[in-house]
Amino acid sequence: MTVLSDLLSVQTTDIAISQAKHRVSHLQETIDRDAAKSALAEIDAQIALCDTEIATATAEIVKVDRSSHEHDDKLVKLNKQLKTVIAPREAEALQHEIATVTTERSALDDRELELMGVVENGEMKKSELGPLQASAKSTLAAATMALSSAKQKIDAEISALTEQRSAQALVVPKSLMSTYEAKRKHRPDGAVCRLNGPTCGSCHLDISQGEINAMRAMTGDELPECPHCGSFIVF
Ligand SMILES: [Zn+2]
Repeated sequence: MTVLSDLLSVQTTDIAISQAKHRVSHLQETIDRDAAKSALAEIDAQIALCDTEIATATAEIVKVDRSSHEHDDKLVKLNKQLKTVIAPREAEALQHEIATVTTERSALDDRELELMGVVENGEMKKSELGPLQASAKSTLAAATMALSSAKQKIDAEISALTEQRSAQALVVPKSLMSTYEAKRKHRPDGAVCRLNGPTCGSCHLDISQGEINAMRAMTGDELPECPHCGSFIVF
């Protein structure tokens, strides 16, 4: 019946392997790396928004400038005309036009000042975000490194355990290994177990003393199994 204790060793290693795999997929380092990634993405997005605001305002400043020059040219022309007209009604009309163009010209100045404020504000925000971005980048780099080293450590553990498992499985008959694999599908951690007193280590139900005695007396190819869950019992 030592073949079952060999099988129990295989199961112990299998459990250790699945626990290690579970740890790999639930690492704190992954959570930290993801948090660092989104923190950086958030800052990058804010910088991109500043860039867009600056670019839009700069493009409008160019247009406003062009329009201001056109207004200046028009004013020069209108003032020249004003000097040549004699009819009072014509002069009045010209003066009215000059006043309108002057008002528009002044509104363009106001708009340009406003846009320069937008650019300045955007540049200021960017200069504040710069150091934050640099620090978020180094946090992410450190978190990425920590994650990769944590993963490497567990991967090494898993490959050592896998090697150990292969060696342990070698001494177990192939047909028993197949039965074990089939039982594991239903009870991954309890295909084979020891008794705790009269209690099955797998399903935790009590087995009668009569059944225990009968199992202990088994010989040859017979292998003791829990009457409740079918787990192999190691004595
Ligand atoms: Zn059981």
